[in-house]
Order: sequence, then structure tokens, then C-alpha cells
Amino acid sequence: MEERDVIVIGAGIAGLTAARELRDLDPLVFEASDRVGGRIWSQQRGDLAVSVGAHMFPPPASTVGRMVEEYGLEVLPITGSMLNVALRGRLVSDIRPELMPFKLPLSTRGRVSFARAGLKVKRIGDAYMKLAVPRRGESAADVRLRLLQYGGDRSFADFLGPLHPEAAEIYRALCNRTIAEPDEISEGSMAALFGHVWDSGDLGRNMRGGSGLLTDALGADLADHIRLQTRATRLAFDGAGVTVGYEGPDGAGEVRARAAIVAVPAPDLAPFMRDAMTPGFASAVDRVRFGPHIVTSIRTDETEPMPWDDIYSILTPDLGFTMFFNHANALRGTGAPKQGSVLMVYTGADRGRALLGKTDDEIQQHHLASLDRLFPELRSRIVELWTKPWEHAGPFGAPGRWRAQETLERGLGGRVFVAGDWVSDFVSMETAALTAVDAAAEARALIERGGGQQPAARPVVVPRDPKATKRVQAFFGDASSAEE
Ligand SMILES: Cc1cc2nc3c(=O)[nH]c(=O)nc-3n(C[C@H](O)[C@H](O)[C@H](O)COP(=O)(O)OP(=O)(O)OC[C@H]3O[C@@H](n4cnc5c(N)ncnc54)[C@H](O)[C@@H]3O)c2cc1C
Repeated sequence: MEERDVIVIGAGIAGLTAARELRDLDPLVFEASDRVGGRIWSQQRGDLAVSVGAHMFPPPASTVGRMVEEYGLEVLPITGSMLNVALRGRLVSDIRPELMPFKLPLSTRGRVSFARAGLKVKRIGDAYMKLAVPRRGESAADVRLRLLQYGGDRSFADFLGPLHPEAAEIYRALCNRTIAEPDEISEGSMAALFGHVWDSGDLGRNMRGGSGLLTDALGADLADHIRLQTRATRLAFDGAGVTVGYEGPDGAGEVRARAAIVAVPAPDLAPFMRDAMTPGFASAVDRVRFGPHIVTSIRTDETEPMPWDDIYSILTPDLGFTMFFNHANALRGTGAPKQGSVLMVYTGADRGRALLGKTDDEIQQHHLASLDRLFPELRSRIVELWTKPWEHAGPFGAPGRWRAQETLERGLGGRVFVAGDWVSDFVSMETAALTAVDAAAEARALIERGGGQQPAARPVVVPRDPKATKRVQAFFGDASSAEE
């Protein structure tokens, strides 16, 4: 049987980051699909790209930011506004969150209810951002646990209490963009979203040519280690190692290794790890909830100005999608002539679930009908559509999710470590990569100890350089200052 020091299962950003960290140990990476990148997925169209996955990149002083630089890729700052809401046929643009109750088309009662709830969410958002600051001597895992614990036992719906239906509609849309319904997601997980909205002076960045260029570069760099179209089908403990069964293009096989890093989304883990999981670990994995995003990417060919040019994102509570994004916006800052636009819309949570099982054409017609209401000039400019219904688009923190955290961070049997956005408190490419760095450090420590003993305590990761102590919460490209 083939033998390795370490096997990595999954070649999304987490698996690729882990393999890169462990490159000197000749890791073997199994990836079920015919491409690397997982939920980072784009196709280049000149300086632009159609994309159905992650688009906003974290700052340069982050794990992902450093890889972007090392592979010579370019991220462009998003200059357009992010706080826009389209409601009842009106687009309210570029508003400070605290002014929203006064600008949105709401009845007096709806306005009062929305503003009252706004004061409450501002409070939890601020509290969350303070808690996100790493304290001296803390590991990244300590910070993740603290953030998951914050407001971690109560649903966001219970936190808000009764709302006027107009206010409830907007808060529901905000939860849906986070892949959940208000009664599914914890107060703390929504605090993370609001904290970033209020705290962020940094609007994030998009990659010139598309996000997939990063995972493509990682995939090319690690090509000798990666087996595509190879699905892990079984993981079992085997003396002082693990055996991983797989099915690949040349049939089924088994590889033995001293350590394994499992970097697949939680719903994909149980099918091949059922036999290896302890009841405690299985129930920790069960606590992790994933929700859907039904995505359509749209490319248009206009060269003249369009009403969306200065906008990056719009919340759309009463349309057939939850969010609208304009990925061409980042190019505006470069002064380059307009090459058309690339836009993305997605429908999350229950409204997304209702679209699962529909054909791409049905989903596109559903999205385009709403786009006609938002931007009637758009349809006649469309030259390309690409739809991806992600049933498991991302994890969200349900009430009680934090209770799983220590078990997940520990891994299984001292030699199987899990990585990915779902092992963290916040869904993003950066948090996925950070968990992979930790998992790789654990695997390395095990291998360098000779593979037989219990793992050492997690490494303390808070660095000395105050600039580098910024905790990166990448979804909004924001970095909050750490405690000195
Ligand atoms: C529409 C959308 C928009 C987003 N926007 C942003 C954004 O702007 N910024 C941001 O930072 N994040 C964003 N995210 C989140 C981000 O994409 C994810 O957090 C991140 O990519 C997760 O990476 P991962 O490696 O943990 O998992 P994945 O990318 O899901 O990778 C897991 C890999 O495991 C493979 N796999 C599964 N089962 C097996 C098996 N049995 N054997 C072998 N391989 C297997 C899968 O094929 C996949 O390639 C977005 C996500 C979506 C869906």
C-alpha cells in the first residue's frame, strides 16, 4: 500500500493552504472534482471574470493576502459603495447604516421598529468587534471559541423580539445573505456581520481576472501532490496511522499516512468518516449547519456608463435574489476603459432552498425577472450567464454551535485534523486558510515527534509585530486592531 506522511482531503483554499504549508513533507491531496478551488470558482474574461463563488479578498497582511502577493496576482480595491438597499422599487444608495431608518421607504411604524432594532444590533456589532481583538498569548483557536460563544445560545430572531413586518423583512434579508433564516442563526453570528458593516472603513478588494486565479496558481504550484477526480471514500485509524480509501480515475485504492487533514465542508465529511468518528466528534460535526446560495453570474458588453457602475453591492429584500454584486466595480479605480460588466446575484436560505432542484434556465429566468425590476436596461446587454446552485454554500453559527468548537479544534485520535470555514467563527476564504495553517502545524508536530504521541498544545499564533496582530475578518476585507 502507498505510504505518506500526510494526506489532505479536499483542494479548496483550506486544503491547498494546508498542502502548501506541508510541502516539504510531500503531502498527497485528494480532490473529488476535476478542478481545485472549491467554493472559489471563476472564469477569466480579460481583466474581469464571471464568478459563482468568493470574490472579496482580505488585506495584504493576511494568510490569503500573502499568497496573492507571492503568486504575483493583483487585487484591486473596491471603490463602490456597499451599503445600498433596493426596496419597493426604490434604490437607496450609499447610506450610512445609522441613517437607513430615515432613508428607506418604510411606514412610520416600520421605521420606528427598524430603528429600535438597529440600536440593538449596533450594540452587539460593537461588542463583537472588541471581542475579535486577540489578547496576548492567545491562539487563533482561543479567539474563534470566544467569538462563537458570544451570543451563541440565542437565535437572532429571539434577540430581536417582535418586529414590524417591514423591519422584519429587511433583517430577514440580512440573515439570508448570511445563508440562514433569523430563527436559525445565532445572535453572535449576526453580530459578526453587523460589526463588520459598521466597523469597516476598508471595502475589500477583488482580484483582477477573477478569484480563481489564486486557487489555480496554488493548484499549479502543488500539481505534483494533487490527484483530481479522486474522492476519499473511507478514513479509518490503522495502528499508528490512518488509512484513506479513495475512488479515482483509475479505480479504487488505499493510502496509508501518519496524519490526515480533512478540508471538506462538514456535510461531505460524514459519508467517508462515519467509522472513524467518536460519538462526541460526530455530534460536534452535526452541530455545524450549512445553508444554500443559488448564484447567477452575469456578463454584459456595454461600454457606456450604467446605473450600477459606482455600486458594489445591494441588499434586495423584496426581490427574487438576496444580494446583487458588481464585480466590475474594482476596475473603475484603474481608469481602464469599460469592458462591459460582470455582476452576480444570489438567493440564500429558505428562498434559495426553494430553488434547489430547478434547472439552470429556470433559476436564470427567476433572477432575470427581478433584475428587470432593479435595472431594466440590463437584460439587453447580457452576453453570458452562469448559474451555480450551491446547496452547501457556507456554514452559519446556529445557537449552540460554539459547544462543538473545542472538539473540532482537537481533531480525532491525535492524527486527523479538520480545516475549512466551518471550523471557524466566520465564513471566508481567510478564516478557512487560517484553520488550515493550524491543522498543518498540528500534523507537522505529530510527524516530527515520530507520530506516536499525543499532540502538543496548540501553537500561540499572536505575532509580535503590532501590524501583523490585526485579526482579519475577510468577508468585508476588514482588519480590526489587536490589543497592543
Ligand atoms: C457565492 C459565494 C460567495 C462567497 N463570497 C465570499 C467572499 O466574497 N469572500 C470570502 O472570503 N469568502 C466568500 N465565500 C466563502 C468562501 O468561498 C469559503 O469560505 C471558502 O472558499 C471555503 O474554502 P474551504 O477550502 O473551506 O472549502 P471548499 O472551497 O468547499 O473546498 C472543499 C473541497 O473539498 C472537496 N471534497 C469534498 N468532499 C470530498 C471527498 N470526499 N474527497 C475529496 N475531495 C472532496 C470539494 O470538491 C472541494 O473542492 C463565498 C462563498 C460562496 C458560495
